[in-house]
Amino acid sequence: MTDQEAKHRQRIAKRAAGLERSKIRVMFELADEVEGDLVHLEIGEPDFDTPEHIIDAAEEAARGGQTHYTANAGIPPLREAVADTLAREDDVQVSPEQVTVKSGAMEALALAMLALADPGDEVVIPTPAWPNYVNHAEVAGATPVEVPLPADEGFDLDAELVADHITDDTAAVILTTPSNPTGRVYDEDAVSAVADAAAEHGAYVVADEVYGRLTYDDDFRGMASYVDHPEQVLTVGSCSKTYAMTGWRLGWLAGPEPAVDAVTSVGETITACPSSVSQHAALAALTGPQDAADEMKAAFAERRDYVVERVADIPGISCPYPEGAFYAFLDVSDFEGGSFDVAKRLLHEYGVVSAPGDGFGEAGEGYIRLSFANSLERLELGFDRIEEMARDEL
Ligand code: PLP
Repeated sequence: MTDQEAKHRQRIAKRAAGLERSKIRVMFELADEVEGDLVHLEIGEPDFDTPEHIIDAAEEAARGGQTHYTANAGIPPLREAVADTLAREDDVQVSPEQVTVKSGAMEALALAMLALADPGDEVVIPTPAWPNYVNHAEVAGATPVEVPLPADEGFDLDAELVADHITDDTAAVILTTPSNPTGRVYDEDAVSAVADAAAEHGAYVVADEVYGRLTYDDDFRGMASYVDHPEQVLTVGSCSKTYAMTGWRLGWLAGPEPAVDAVTSVGETITACPSSVSQHAALAALTGPQDAADEMKAAFAERRDYVVERVADIPGISCPYPEGAFYAFLDVSDFEGGSFDVAKRLLHEYGVVSAPGDGFGEAGEGYIRLSFANSLERLELGFDRIEEMARDEL
């Protein structure tokens, strides 16, 4: 390389250059180039607006001068509200000092990797899973260890298989229930067995429960409420999905104080604290009336039932039964090509945008994820088109 070339070389760190692009974003961009009435079923966020009383609380906070940095772990009443909510909704017992409030579950999860995994440590990730976990581990210099869950068991948590991958090098095991992308809720005995294996090796269980309030059949209990070693569990939650607050960027991590303090301390170097206005909005969300959240959940439940019905009626496709979250993970392996090919044909020829399953780990190959955070009318149109594709191609 000449001096001149060196001077003009764009210096990009390997940790950034090596990051895989999200297939969901790729589909989103491809869709941007397609004209016509597309049905967007790729997006993982509620289609509702944030409830009025939450917006009012934010406005009041901003006008009342709550526009400054706050304590790194969040304002004390919000930490208390998170602890109360975890106890009330999920049976998880933590003190406010065991809660750190961050800019979304995403920041909490990324910071957890930076704070708890050393370079060379391993992070065990049962897949299919939300793709960010792999990147969080890699940015921290840790090694993600994907454990593809068996498709023929509906991607339920196979405790033995996961436990086999936990060693003294494991810093954390990430368990997401309800799952993105399958909507499955993990069996409590399986979670307990994985938590036992993690505890044996001194690894944390990162319990990503951002969809915990969105279960449609049974009441949800947080993993920390029933495993034998709750002191190994870091519970991650968020306002995003429950209260239609994805843009407010407000989530939390709760668990053993030394781990929580370490997360807060790394967070100080990045954002210090989440937006003060969003914290006041979150306080209103958690402590105010829950009717709007309940109504959104009821709407998701109705759509889930509709999606399950439609999938059952279309020959050649199926999905694990979504007990929670707002996703159906469709087995499209009877169609020609891989997940991405099917997703591209579904977009270009039928006008439905989906998320290719291989974006959620190799276990997801042969699947596409559809979000039912969309109106019944749009879901009907989307499934009419999927049915047409199945008729044409199978
Ligand atoms: N965890 C899972 C499983 C998710 O699906 C998402 C968002 O899609 C997040 C965490 C991030 O949530 P937040 O908006 O609170 O950062």
